Amino acid sequence: MKQNSCPSPGNDSFGFMQFNNTSQHIDHQNLHTEVHPVALVGAGPGDPELLTIKALRLLQAAEVVLTDRLVSHVIVDEYTNPEAEIIYVGKQCRRGASTPQRTINELMADYALQGKKVVRLKGGDVSIFSNVLDELETLVAHNIPYEIVPGVTAALGAAAYAGIPLTARNRSTAVRFLTYYKSDVVTDAYWSELARTRDTLVFYMSAETLGRVVDQLLAHGADAATELAIVEQATTPLQKVHTSTLAHYAKELGGLQLKSPSLVIIGKVVELHRQFAWRANQGGEEEYFKPVEGKLVAYGKDAKRA
Ligand code: SAH
Repeated sequence: MKQNSCPSPGNDSFGFMQFNNTSQHIDHQNLHTEVHPVALVGAGPGDPELLTIKALRLLQAAEVVLTDRLVSHVIVDEYTNPEAEIIYVGKQCRRGASTPQRTINELMADYALQGKKVVRLKGGDVSIFSNVLDELETLVAHNIPYEIVPGVTAALGAAAYAGIPLTARNRSTAVRFLTYYKSDVVTDAYWSELARTRDTLVFYMSAETLGRVVDQLLAHGADAATELAIVEQATTPLQKVHTSTLAHYAKELGGLQLKSPSLVIIGKVVELHRQFAWRANQGGEEEYFKPVEGKLVAYGKDAKRA
């Protein structure tokens, strides 16, 4: 499998950006400033219409939005308060700069303590494979109130838009959200269990390691006829679904250059895609989530985004 995904949202080690406001010091001087709750908001997986009404309301009232890369540009450009300051803090993978988590924490706290209405906008759901814990700890440490607005996580978006009911009757009674980007954390015993379970397995951030996931499942006794689906750019107009079986994966899909982001669904439910797919695959090489070029920049309302 060629590599074109973003396996490591928690990794701050590549691409450091400068921002004027990165000092460790958080200004508590103005004790009379009203501090609004910071809204930690899930933006959904791609289709901007999957935004919740609550998220929309908060975005329209926001003065500062700290947004990730895997958030639809339509949400930022059309559904967010046009006066808001938009700051791209996403991990840009290897194709561009990424923002250290510490900087994100500091920006969020700084703006909140200045009395700004801050939305921290995250792709999919707020809590699934994200660094929300660091952000919550920062907010608590500074006594900043907050609210959490869930979003449609990629697994649910991808499954729905690929016509794969994740716990369909007689096929699966549970679903697991997994990742294999840190390959060392999965023990042999856990692989054996995964290989034998009837649960639907959904792998996030695993495009680069999918070959090894398949090998491990087969080596631990999984049924080679088990089907898998890779959903690229799920719920966006560029969505594409590839299916195969564990046995045929290497031959049929192993050489694909997957578009980022992509998600893998494994299990008996995947066969339902053939019958219930309701969206045609889109061709082309285009990427829906474009990396933002350059440094961490705060964009004013009329500023041109790269
Ligand atoms: N908090 C996010 C997940 C962040 S981890 C959520 O709840 O969805 C990033 C991973 O999510 C990607 O590597 C990919 O596996 C998955 N992902 C996010 N958006 C996706 C999309 N539109 N299509 C396919 N996979 C997606």
